[in-house]
Amino acid sequence: MAPDTDIRDNLEKVKARIAAAAAEAGRSAAAVTLVAVAKSHPAAVIRPALQAGHRVFGENRVQEAEAKWPALKADHPDLRLHLVGGLQRNKVKRAVALFDAIETIDNPRLARAVADEMARSGRRPQCFVQVNTGDEPQKGGVAPADADAFIAACRDDFGLAIAGLMCVPPLEDEPSPHFALLREIAKRNGVDGLSMGMSGDFETAIRLGATHVRVGTAIFGERPAVKQETEA
Ligand SMILES: *Cc1c(COP(=O)(O)O)cnc(C)c1O
Repeated sequence: MAPDTDIRDNLEKVKARIAAAAAEAGRSAAAVTLVAVAKSHPAAVIRPALQAGHRVFGENRVQEAEAKWPALKADHPDLRLHLVGGLQRNKVKRAVALFDAIETIDNPRLARAVADEMARSGRRPQCFVQVNTGDEPQKGGVAPADADAFIAACRDDFGLAIAGLMCVPPLEDEPSPHFALLREIAKRNGVDGLSMGMSGDFETAIRLGATHVRVGTAIFGERPAVKQETEA
């Protein structure tokens, strides 16, 4: 089978699994946005997904996204790009210019820089707060204990509308408690969006209320192992 066909097939299968998980949970499949995470894959691998009509994609590094997406956006102006990797303040201007959603807001200085750049540029990417549900020292995200205060500061101090919360559970943990915690934090803060669930656990996330699932490997296949994946 040609790789293009593989990707179209994979996309269809993932969409069918999303629809089934949503139905099982009594939710509408339309309430779950599939963010196809294309990090470390070249444009040639992404194009078949665009040709199949898919329009929402994720990347984890600003620089890599800048190399791939302007040309794809020119051909498909309606596509939406989510930043799912950590964002450094010195790349905020570029991130706000390119991305339609930034899922990794996790500290006040970053929130302020994003808010300032949005005001300056007039661009309005959706903002998600990343929560480090496993309290892992090496991982991005605000600590669960600090989430309420941080969300309030984003809104009240920086004028940032929070579209959702995002989490990446610890690899070794059962993900359900992390998804449930994220949902609880969102609920008590009146936040609608829940970006949770990846290739290995998106059905579980949908059962627990995910509005966005971020799926890479199940669509595009294994990533080349060479690239560093954690930092934007
Ligand atoms: C890579 C990545 C994904 C996709 O992971 P897969 O297991 O390949 O589906 C989702 N979210 C984030 C933050 C990622 O970095």
